[in-house]
Amino acid sequence: MLTINGKAAFGGIVIGKIKEFSKEKNVVRRTKITDVKEEYTRFENAREMAISQLSKLYEKAVKEVGEANAAIFEVHQMMLEDDDYLDSVKNMIETQMVNAEFAVATTGDNFASIFSEMDDEYMKERAADVKDISERVIRILSGVADSDELAGEEEAFIVVADDLAPSETIQLDRSKVLAFVTRKGSTNSHTAILARTMNIPALVCTPLENDVDGKIAVVDGNSGKIILDPEEDTVLLYEKLIKEEKERKELLLRLKGQKTVTKSGKEIKLYANIGGVKDVAAVLQNDAAGIGLFRSEFLYLQSEAYPTENEQFNAYKTVAEMMAGKKVIIRTLDIGADKQIDYFNLDKEENPALGYRAVRICLDRPEIFKTQLRALYRASAYGNIAIMVPMIASLWEVQKAKELIELVKEELKEEGIAYGKVEFGIMIETPAAVMIADELAKEVDFFSIGTNDLTQYTLAIDRQNAKLDLFYDAHHPAVLRMIQMVIDSAHRAGIWAGICGELGADTTLTETFVKMGIDELSVSPAMVLPVRDKVLGVE
Ligand code: PEP
Ligand code: MG
Repeated sequence: MLTINGKAAFGGIVIGKIKEFSKEKNVVRRTKITDVKEEYTRFENAREMAISQLSKLYEKAVKEVGEANAAIFEVHQMMLEDDDYLDSVKNMIETQMVNAEFAVATTGDNFASIFSEMDDEYMKERAADVKDISERVIRILSGVADSDELAGEEEAFIVVADDLAPSETIQLDRSKVLAFVTRKGSTNSHTAILARTMNIPALVCTPLENDVDGKIAVVDGNSGKIILDPEEDTVLLYEKLIKEEKERKELLLRLKGQKTVTKSGKEIKLYANIGGVKDVAAVLQNDAAGIGLFRSEFLYLQSEAYPTENEQFNAYKTVAEMMAGKKVIIRTLDIGADKQIDYFNLDKEENPALGYRAVRICLDRPEIFKTQLRALYRASAYGNIAIMVPMIASLWEVQKAKELIELVKEELKEEGIAYGKVEFGIMIETPAAVMIADELAKEVDFFSIGTNDLTQYTLAIDRQNAKLDLFYDAHHPAVLRMIQMVIDSAHRAGIWAGICGELGADTTLTETFVKMGIDELSVSPAMVLPVRDKVLGVE
């Protein structure tokens, strides 16, 4: 048994098996072996495992994309039974006394180049397939998982990785993930935020060795530690804690259906943050009164190319319809900084957090912004949609965004396409926006304070840099005073102000925020009832 301390990014306790997630392509090394029979058995076992994974993938694909599209996984299984392929691997292990990984990689390369030189188009295409199956076998031989393989697994796992990018995290099948544990990463990163939205315990900065794949572990997201190979007593203790946690959650369920009001009768709009359509179920289960932050960029992060107007429209419409008239605040595209997307072809920047991101990209590339605005406005006919724009620093940015909105509305009108009434807000997440909040308030219907970035920019601390976690103090008086300034400016102009950054879910501050006059708090779905509990206790 070994206890390793990391940093808690999201609470909760789980017990399960570890699956190492490696994004690096395996570098296959040639090593000399001494036991040919043993090496061949290793290969045979890996081959069988690959066939079984492919058959599961086939079944999943038949359900999701139909038989014709799933057929490729059958072809892959057949390739792994091809005599020529198997003879080549076996021959290489025997005659050259090399490791199975090397024999498979070389055989894969050889077959791929034979296929790619054939005249027949169908055979040419098989080159990629033979490489694909070889890589699958190599990954199994070296005990490395990828997100695709997690999807084929029956059981849920504790995913361990050096680091996870937001795009990788969002693509993982959440029903297969018990917890995330990363060796690097910061508690303020978007990956940590995603873990919270997905309601999955998460640790970052956890100094794990590289040999943990397949081990049983306890992840304690409450105290920020992982226990490898736990002894029976420890498992029993944690099973008890899991049971108690479940009971606490059940106790909170009594708050479902209740209004979020203080003892003196002030009602707080208690909304939830989401990253996509999949999260709406959790919003409804946890009884949020609306969605206060839909991070629309995750639609882009999950895509291989710019999501079309229709694709976006369908996503926004689905969320609006599922929320059945409750408020859905969709934040316009906020990429850049840690959220990089290949097809945007963004330049590498010295200071990406201070760089080309969010509204800056939208105003510089209005064709992208207009596509999103059209989709948002079209979806507004199906529910109660509001729009908010991130990373505002200047008045003209708001005015320019509004001009583009007017243009889009004109276009839709001319095309005879219906749209609803859409509230327009901005995120307050730069100190500049705080300082001119009185001016900005005249232009918008609401403010939503992004405390994650506001803390980063106020304290001049990169929220991605784990070394600075000690200095990243969202309770810093400068941040709290700024929040007060924003609320006051909003109220003077007759508009509402909320918090959608992670600080909004910090129950040690709920009372403070209510006393400051906050109108709305938008938190990860799992935090809705704990925050409601706090608000109910405020005088
Ligand atoms: C924030 O900055 O507080 C915020 C809500 O936006 P994000 O975390 O997505 O940058
Ligand atoms: Mg932000």
